[in-house]
Amino acid sequence: DCRTSPLLPMTPKKPQQWLQVVGHAGSFHVGDYGTLLKRFCEGEQQCYLRLMEDTLRPFVPLYHGVVQHGEQDYNMMDNLLTHFNTPAIMDCKMGSRTYLEEELVTARERPQPRNDMYEKMVAVDPEAPTVQERAQQAVLKTRYMQWRETLSSTASLGFRIEGFRKANGECQTNFKRTKSREQVVEWGYLRRLKQLRQVLESSHFFKTHEVVGSSLLFVHDWTGKTGVWMIDFGKTVSLPTHHTLDHRTPWAEGNREDGYLWGLDNLIDVLTDILPV
Ligand code: ATP
Ligand code: MG
Ligand code: MG
Repeated sequence: DCRTSPLLPMTPKKPQQWLQVVGHAGSFHVGDYGTLLKRFCEGEQQCYLRLMEDTLRPFVPLYHGVVQHGEQDYNMMDNLLTHFNTPAIMDCKMGSRTYLEEELVTARERPQPRNDMYEKMVAVDPEAPTVQERAQQAVLKTRYMQWRETLSSTASLGFRIEGFRKANGECQTNFKRTKSREQVVEWGYLRRLKQLRQVLESSHFFKTHEVVGSSLLFVHDWTGKTGVWMIDFGKTVSLPTHHTLDHRTPWAEGNREDGYLWGLDNLIDVLTDILPV
């Protein structure tokens, strides 16, 4: 019965802090015992159920089943901010593609030229539309989806920062201490990312899923405590039997590669470059 919660942590029932970086605020509620409720999505539930049995379990929020709140169902999971003191958080969306192959197929089925997408495109880059698109004052959705990825580091690095939130910290005066503390945090993140990479390389779940639109949530606080977890599996789908991904091979439509590990390699390299040897 997925409405019971056999995995509830032994966190006291006290009001928990929770701040979100991105996403719709209405999709979340803070639960009891250090939990967080996210608006129910069956695909995401399936992922969390499998992840609880996978080697990736320590790298995702623990999942506690489905609960009702008001009229709505929610997936109940650990609030990752629970054991931090006024944390700073960052959401980093992973992968070289943020739409599923099936979304591309669906968009192609009804190839209607879209004026609204043309307008959005021109608003960002007046030079982006082709001569033909300009004449039509419209672009196809597939074209828009693929163009949008080239705007950010998603296409060039395989990850993009969706947003971050600093702690409401006033203790930013002693820069000497702050500097060393920042490095402690950065080393902590780097160590954790390398551990994650190692586990991802052998995870059964990871091998057998197209992981799109999922993020790494970075959390740290002024004590130097750090954490990184994988979150947001709303667009993570299982592959047909015998189809596996290495998550590094460049995407070509049909191979379903998502560039997740390629992005993580780049993220680790970027972080390594900014740290002193
Ligand atoms: P989108 O698809 O637009 O990214 P979403 O509705 O799927 O949004 P998530 O990406 O899962 O939502 O989460 C949005 C934000 O909520 C994250 O950036 C993070 O700040 C916060 N958040 C999500 N899950 C947790 C968690 N388990 N613990 C703490 N914070 C979380
Ligand atoms: Mg997200
Ligand atoms: Mg999502």
